[in-house]
Amino acid sequence: MSDTNHTHKGKGTSRCSFCNRPLSEAETFAAGHDGARLCTNCAHEVHLLFKAQEEARSGRKGQPTHPPAEKLNLKTPAEIKAFLDLYVIGQEAAKKTLSVAVYNHYKRLNYLLDKTVDDVEIDKSNIILLGETGTGKTLLARTIARLLDVPFCIADATVLTEAGYVGEDVESILTRLLQAADYNVTAAQRGIIFIDEIDKIARKSANPSITRDVSGEGVQQALLKLLEGTVVNVPPKGGRKHPDQEFIAVDTRHILFVAGGAFDGIEQHIAARLRTASIGYKNRDLQQIDRENLIGYVAPQDLKRFGLIPEVVGRFPVLTHLTPLSEADLRRILTEPKNALVKQYAQLLAMDGVKLEFEPSALDFLARTTVEYKLGARGLRALMEKVMEDLMFELPSRQTTPDTFTVTEALVRERLQPHLMQNL
Ligand code: ADP
Repeated sequence: MSDTNHTHKGKGTSRCSFCNRPLSEAETFAAGHDGARLCTNCAHEVHLLFKAQEEARSGRKGQPTHPPAEKLNLKTPAEIKAFLDLYVIGQEAAKKTLSVAVYNHYKRLNYLLDKTVDDVEIDKSNIILLGETGTGKTLLARTIARLLDVPFCIADATVLTEAGYVGEDVESILTRLLQAADYNVTAAQRGIIFIDEIDKIARKSANPSITRDVSGEGVQQALLKLLEGTVVNVPPKGGRKHPDQEFIAVDTRHILFVAGGAFDGIEQHIAARLRTASIGYKNRDLQQIDRENLIGYVAPQDLKRFGLIPEVVGRFPVLTHLTPLSEADLRRILTEPKNALVKQYAQLLAMDGVKLEFEPSALDFLARTTVEYKLGARGLRALMEKVMEDLMFELPSRQTTPDTFTVTEALVRERLQPHLMQNL
């Protein structure tokens, strides 16, 4: 700016070059080159931003700005796993790894709360879950948050952009977490953020690009700041930062990040690495490795080859995978989880005084059809909803409601036929 030391009385038509708000006659602003204008609101925001950055640089970022958090009632890994078992079918490897990682993360957090001086570098156990869509990645993260009673939010990586581009700023994730925490900053600061489809922000080639890659690498860089731990001034209502808004400073150091992605095609990188590693080692011959389940051998290098930048990969020290759900898994999903669909519908109809029952073969048919049409767990839910829709519509208004209603295989077939035909 040419004359930042001077303030000017505005001309009626001029606007702030930052927020584009029209500057009123009476308003005070700073003027710069080529007619640039900075309104007082934006000046205030820039001041806050610089202050936060300066605090982060000078290491003062960790100073508690909010009342200290109370210690969490920590569960052991076995207890965490047992709780996950109540809601998530199968996925044993992922459940075990996740239980240990979450236990370690919150154990460190409780330890830090005990200390008056924050002298321990806390290594966070951020987690990446690899697995096809609809295998339970979000469910796992959500269930952990439910167990620990910490705020939880889901961020879709595909809509995130670098600040200033069309889309959602990476920092908007924190607005969502704050909302989930009812604006209790202390709670939000130890919440869990699930980043869905992190594989979609992979850069297109493994080599750093010279040109800017707005959708991929730039977003990863922005995300990295949150992962590393920083103080972010968050607009509580979301949207673009606006000078008229108050900000809430959120420290991201202790937030647990769980990222999920299908990582389509990562098998080729895993296979290539294993082939290289197996040269000269007869015992580790590729023949012995379960080719079908290459994803089980995934390592951080593979994520880098896939297009995640090394710094981001480094911030996710825990890596685990979910397997595709089998017909038997899907069948169990219908009835076993604590909030299984069959239980939910039974409860709903019980409120109308109807006892709902399912013929086992009806449930078998639902699971089999889901596999046949490759619909996954979400599809299973959709099929079930289709079956139940008419019933839920009709039953309450019948003159005489039956004491018991049994969903037979024939009924399921009949209801699903038109629906499945459409999908063919
Ligand atoms: P992802 O995040 O892997 O795409 P979700 O966790 O969102 O999948 O799963 C979608 C829905 O499917 C869940 O809400 C749940 O109802 C069901 N589901 C998926 N996997 C499982 C599982 N392993 N056990 C129980 N339910 C599951």
